[in-house]
Amino acid sequence: MKPLILKGVRPYGEGDPTDVLIRDGVIAAIGSVDDEGARIVDGGGAVLLPGFVDLHTHLREPGREDTETIATGSAAAALGGYTAVFAMANTDPVADNEVVVTHVARRGREVGLVDVHPVGAVTVGLEGVKLAELGTMAKAGVRVFSDDGHCVHDPLIMRRALEYSKALDVVIAQHAEEPRLTVGAQAHEGEQASRLGLQGWPASAEESIVARDCLLARHAGARLHVCHVSTTGTADVLRWAKARGTEVSAEVTPHHLLLTDERLATYDPVNKVNPPLRTAADVEVLRRALAEGVIDCVATDHAPHAVQDKDCEWSAARPGMLGLQTALSIVVETMVRTGLLDWRGVARVMSERPAGIAGLADQGRPIEVGEPANLTLVDPDATWTVRGAEFASIAANTPFEGMELPGVVVATVLRGRVTALGGRIAE
Ligand SMILES: [Zn+2]
Repeated sequence: MKPLILKGVRPYGEGDPTDVLIRDGVIAAIGSVDDEGARIVDGGGAVLLPGFVDLHTHLREPGREDTETIATGSAAAALGGYTAVFAMANTDPVADNEVVVTHVARRGREVGLVDVHPVGAVTVGLEGVKLAELGTMAKAGVRVFSDDGHCVHDPLIMRRALEYSKALDVVIAQHAEEPRLTVGAQAHEGEQASRLGLQGWPASAEESIVARDCLLARHAGARLHVCHVSTTGTADVLRWAKARGTEVSAEVTPHHLLLTDERLATYDPVNKVNPPLRTAADVEVLRRALAEGVIDCVATDHAPHAVQDKDCEWSAARPGMLGLQTALSIVVETMVRTGLLDWRGVARVMSERPAGIAGLADQGRPIEVGEPANLTLVDPDATWTVRGAEFASIAANTPFEGMELPGVVVATVLRGRVTALGGRIAE
């Protein structure tokens, strides 16, 4: 592979533009560099960040290749600035065994646009009844386990899962939703749901599980990761648990940082997601919790759906939204333009912390000589207009359709190889 020079880039958006030489997949020099025969990418003063890591991606393969495949999802990830994604286990068949997780990892390597890490299911068939073979899957390389889409609601199963996870040095990622409190739930329980006549999804259904699991994790001496935090109360619980030394980490989605249940007035199912869009007050709390580190990172919950599963009656629609190609822009809009995060902060929440939570050694690394060249180049001043039909994903269910957003991914580099450039997958 030819050496690569990123010319005129600003690591973490700091200082004057400089050059970065990449050789054999590693950052070889930073400063005034020279290498005849190197491929040159002109940065034009853009911000250089460590490649993004998404702890929460639904790639839908195997089983729903009509909505996304590992190939199309990997392309969406590369275009969104990602160098690693974690593929959720709620596929068909479920990734609750070594065969499926090995298949997903192998397909990811064959596509080669982003590191695809399979998430293993916590319980067999995501049914919440019997623990899956965590040890076998961990031996096959699985670092994160989750029944996402479902909550591991049985406290004894969750306790055992946490105990195993400690022994295996892996992490359990919980979709926190007490199912008895969300039977038939269609929208955030509150004024808007009442007005629209939609069955409510109470904040306490999330908060009670997060509180319980923080206590269980502490008791087991295990690490816990909380998926898609959506409420003020969950932020409070996390703050409390962290203050008393519980090893808990948490993610928030871009859509929960921007959108509120006011969007539901049109009954357009593109806004249906689980957990549901909450209130403006929640959005404000989530942004501040992310800035403070109470919430550790951003994860997309990228959830492609077929047209017939979204373009239908609200109650029949599947929950979920696309996220990979809009995440950075939503973070710029909600966190950078508001002054809540600088680019160091963006590197932390999009790359360093998610890599750390999952225990990835070669992602989320500092931009320094000798470090692996997993990098993302971002033009902070450019804007673009979201067109779901133009996404690399097969599905097009984006709630940001038609919005003009700030922040454009100029290039993505995976171990020294350009995977995306100027909005296109690099050849
Ligand atoms: Zn979930």
